[in-house]
Amino acid sequence: MYNVNSSTPKEKKRIAQMIREAYESKGQSHAFDMTNAFNKNHVKMIPYEHCDACDHEVPAIDNCCLLCGQETVRMSHNDIVIRGKKAIGFKNETEWQKCATDKDKARLEGYVLGAKMGLKAKFY
Ligand SMILES: [Zn+2]
Repeated sequence: MYNVNSSTPKEKKRIAQMIREAYESKGQSHAFDMTNAFNKNHVKMIPYEHCDACDHEVPAIDNCCLLCGQETVRMSHNDIVIRGKKAIGFKNETEWQKCATDKDKARLEGYVLGAKMGLKAKFY
């Protein structure tokens, strides 16, 4: 799977700092915005995982919450996370089916295909 967990330690540190700073300066929703903006423009996305301490799906690197530093629960690659109307990560399919429109599904398919081919992920 293409995500930042397979980036270099230096790159991971840089990304973690960027998200952490966004969180500390402007709060959780700003950190999500930064993550989504990053994921829009990079093949290797920042995965969302579940953090018990934050009680939320959070951007995480190597099972570490980028907001609070606690350990996160990794979701399976077959799972999909939707935030707003965007497929931004992976969670359970039931949730995805519940809130996804046909356009969302087509977009996700395009993304998965693009990621497999090493192209940039595109969201609208
Ligand atoms: Zn957390």
